[in-house]
Amino acid sequence: MRAIAVINQKGGVGKTTSSVNLSAALARSGRRVCIMDLDPQAHASLHLGITAVGGEPTMYEILCGEASIADARRDISDKLSVVPSNLDLAAAELELAGEVGREMILRDRLDDDSEEFDYLILDCPPSLGVLTVNALVAVNEVFLPLQPHFLALHGLSKLLRTIEVVSRRLNDQLRLSGVMLCMYDSNTRLAAEVSTDIDEFFQAAKGGREFFRNAKFFETRIRRNVRLAEAPSFGQSIFEYAADSNGAADYQALAEEIILQEQFASVPQRVAA
Ligand code: ADP
Ligand code: MG
Repeated sequence: MRAIAVINQKGGVGKTTSSVNLSAALARSGRRVCIMDLDPQAHASLHLGITAVGGEPTMYEILCGEASIADARRDISDKLSVVPSNLDLAAAELELAGEVGREMILRDRLDDDSEEFDYLILDCPPSLGVLTVNALVAVNEVFLPLQPHFLALHGLSKLLRTIEVVSRRLNDQLRLSGVMLCMYDSNTRLAAEVSTDIDEFFQAAKGGREFFRNAKFFETRIRRNVRLAEAPSFGQSIFEYAADSNGAADYQALAEEIILQEQFASVPQRVAA
């Protein structure tokens, strides 16, 4: 199983859009996928049409030890499931602050879960707090969505340092394995320039740093496409909402690149501790 956290501490870069539509694309390609919503804003849950109201088990109950992952998981289709969140999760950050081993809770819950998936996709909140660290401990891969903005690389060194510290202290399996460009305007010079900058940044930074030596800058660019922005309010992935859109084509193409990575031994597999 590949377990992938989709991380960027900036909001609005395409984490949730990518988590949901990539999960749906991988499921369409025959993979069994579970998406885990680690953001109290619950955008991934809502995007898939799930609203978890009071009392229903969610990511919050899982982290607080009141529910198992199986209790909270919902099936969207026969290949796609979601572990939803809701605003309660915002309290977890504070409530867990004093707990010993708080970074390992999600990993332990996953180890207790017997359901088999090909992919676990974790949609992370826009912060580097305890929820994101729980994701980084529970997975073996990180995907980094970036917007082709002139500040795209701003803050990246802090993010990479966080990943590196977690990989050194808490999870030596952790690798940055994919960088993807979202909301790409193919006809602007800026987008092309930023792509080159990102490419150069990762080429230059690779030497010596094990945790992102095999990071792939995906060739598929996710173009800006209004259908992708509309789909969440219908509680549907892009494949249900607008199967003929550029958004659907781009996420399916990206999923195919991700599936190709399965052939390489460099893709780390998550194994229960
Ligand atoms: P994050 O999870 O990083 O905060 P989102 O995935 O929620 O970012 O995206 C931020 C906003 O941009 C959302 O309103 C989303 O619908 C929209 N969006 C994301 N990707 C695209 C795209 N390729 N084209 C158009 N709108 C997009
Ligand atoms: Mg989000």
